[in-house]
Amino acid sequence: MRKPIIAGNWKMNKTLAEAQAFVEAVKNNIPSKELVDTVIGSPALFLASMNELRQGTDLQLSAQNSYFENAGAFTGETSPAAIADLGIEYIIIGHSERREYFHETDEDINKKAKAIIANGVTPIICCGESLETFEAGKTAEWVEGQITAALKDLTAEQVSNLVIAYEPIWAIGTGKSATAEIADDTCGVVRTTVEKLYGKEVSEKVRVQYGGSVKPENVAEYMSKENVDGALVGGASLDAESFLALLDFV
Ligand code: 13P
Repeated sequence: MRKPIIAGNWKMNKTLAEAQAFVEAVKNNIPSKELVDTVIGSPALFLASMNELRQGTDLQLSAQNSYFENAGAFTGETSPAAIADLGIEYIIIGHSERREYFHETDEDINKKAKAIIANGVTPIICCGESLETFEAGKTAEWVEGQITAALKDLTAEQVSNLVIAYEPIWAIGTGKSATAEIADDTCGVVRTTVEKLYGKEVSEKVRVQYGGSVKPENVAEYMSKENVDGALVGGASLDAESFLALLDFV
């Protein structure tokens, strides 16, 4: 059985004081990590402080991006080794906002995945199609292409431990969430792609999240689907009460 993983992606929101208050509000009110992985994806700036505040609790943390080199003359970038050194569990990579606004390519995402895994951190690799691709009925081939490129040269063991998030771009921040059937089908495409590349055992271990206008009212329906192992949540993860309500299905 795959353990569910609910991750908030705060994107570029909150001040340090707000991030700290959020951790204090949720850290002792989440379900046991035996049952569900509960993760907050915070701006990198707040991670060190949030990490101290969550010690001894089941709250886990994620960065929203990192570079693929560990150190050097890369002004403005964040080192995956430094994130790992703090004890942060996850790094989100390949979010559609990174691909669109910061021109990240499939090749960059593959390099980041390798660097993050080499540092002992779990990547949450995002994929997902535009409205145009969705309307043209080309979602499956698009997602298969993104996942195949992101996983290039990774080993079966590495892929078994990954998290992959399917986030249709047309459902992000729009309030127009994908139906649970669409989420299940396309998370299934992700799993089938992993199966083609690495075999059944690996594809049954890899965890696949749905993201795109997930909220407390619809999370349980997504989580009831066979191929959906979790959610990556933007807007509804910003408020502590709403974040906690996302975990009510457990
Ligand atoms: P929303 O939940 O705000 O639609 O954002 C989804 C997302 O992009 C999470 O990474």
